[in-house]
Amino acid sequence: MANRLYLTGARLIDGTGGPPLERATVVIEQERVTGIDTSGESTPAGFAHIDLAGRTLMPGLVDAHVHVTAFDMPSVMKGQEAIAPEVKHHFIAAGLRRMLRMGITTVRDVGAFGDDLLYARRAVRLGAIPGPRILVCGRIIAATSAGGRHFAGMYREADGPDEMRKATREQFRRGADFIKIMTTGARSCELENSSPAQMTRAEIATVVEEAHRMGYRVAAHCEGLDGTRLAIEEGVDTIEHGLELHRAPELLDELARSERILVPTLSCFFDVSENRDAAWAPGLVGLAVRQREEAHRTVEAARRAGVPLAMGFDSQPHGKNALELVRLCRAGLTPMASIVAATTTGAMACGIAAHVGRVAPGQVADLVVVDGDPLADPELLLDGARIWLVIQSGRPVAGAALEASLPGLPFREAGVTTDPVPALAGRPVS
Ligand SMILES: [Zn+2]
Repeated sequence: MANRLYLTGARLIDGTGGPPLERATVVIEQERVTGIDTSGESTPAGFAHIDLAGRTLMPGLVDAHVHVTAFDMPSVMKGQEAIAPEVKHHFIAAGLRRMLRMGITTVRDVGAFGDDLLYARRAVRLGAIPGPRILVCGRIIAATSAGGRHFAGMYREADGPDEMRKATREQFRRGADFIKIMTTGARSCELENSSPAQMTRAEIATVVEEAHRMGYRVAAHCEGLDGTRLAIEEGVDTIEHGLELHRAPELLDELARSERILVPTLSCFFDVSENRDAAWAPGLVGLAVRQREEAHRTVEAARRAGVPLAMGFDSQPHGKNALELVRLCRAGLTPMASIVAATTTGAMACGIAAHVGRVAPGQVADLVVVDGDPLADPELLLDGARIWLVIQSGRPVAGAALEASLPGLPFREAGVTTDPVPALAGRPVS
């Protein structure tokens, strides 16, 4: 049956940063937005009408830096059944479902363990499980390094331009949507020094040349300034973290001039520096405190320089991705600028801004309707009860409105329940 929706009365934030449109009508036909107006005409025949008066309509959120498969599995007690690797697929699916429920309609995954995420991407595309659109990098391409051992299964280590080219081609073969490289080590691995450049200029140049010739974009993990500089000079498309860039205004100017994107990932520095479960090695916590300070200075300097910023949560739990949007606001962006980072600029980071990231005729109808005004109160994006409706490719797929048949029930964050009946094989349960 034809999918035709007529959404009326909303306050429309279109994702471009322009002023909101009051009492907007948004027309959806099949998968795309086909019209926007404010004339308030009644719903034409053949369209399903959804009244959005008092609510805000905006593009579905794009998270430009996630690790969908990087989460802690539940621990089991002695004597309990071990959790087979195959069970992890269901947890991956649960994480994707939570993200979609919270209005995240596209994610760019910048590093996954093994091929699990490729299977999840396939399952989402086939409609087997609900989830955001997923862009994958295959394996992260890195120099032979301690990180390659620490993040076993996530990296493809390679040394010298020829191996780098081969490693890049392997990701095309695997089905990558883009290429991710490590220009520096990772702060989250105690054995790595994230200050010096870990890849050589020639290695980075080779990956970028190979990827761009074949039509792929390149994302670069950048902590220390030396690797960040090489990435920018050799044409990488998105700078991930980039926290030391405030020290090099000329590099920020170059990013702004060439309209390349910085993904500041403030949340990952909060995670390690706050060290809530006392889980992190002490040396890394101290480093993260300093890096968090630098990352905030870089957001401020990048904003002043006019660098496009994209929202990347790079953190857990899945579904709370908009916490990064809130943190960008606290770091000095206006709520509107933070929303642009989480929509239009995120889509640019993904290379799919021609299709998603804005509410405009011709764009795919990935939309989120929220209760209230996120410009006045961005934190409402963290409240599932206020994520009223999520529309994906023109179809309502999630949100409080779809759960409202029994109003007043508490929003279930996790979407997971455990069975109170014990698993005691072969024993009667009295
Ligand atoms: Zn990351």
